[in-house]
Amino acid sequence: MELNTNKSSDGETCVICEQKKDKGIHIYTQFICNECEKELVSTETNDEKYKHFLNQMRKITEPMLNLK
Ligand SMILES: [Zn+2]
Repeated sequence: MELNTNKSSDGETCVICEQKKDKGIHIYTQFICNECEKELVSTETNDEKYKHFLNQMRKITEPMLNLK
């Protein structure tokens, strides 16, 4: 039963895995869940997976760059 309408206990949508998670960090206006943040820091920069992370994170940095 979840009838918690006052509080958004739903979590936030992670910018990387695009799933709703309760715990994570905020970068600017975007949210990265704990799991993805751990993955990100433990992934080598020459890993294919890292490219995926960077691609997803472009959503965070691009609006900032467009301000120029
Ligand atoms: Zn995530």
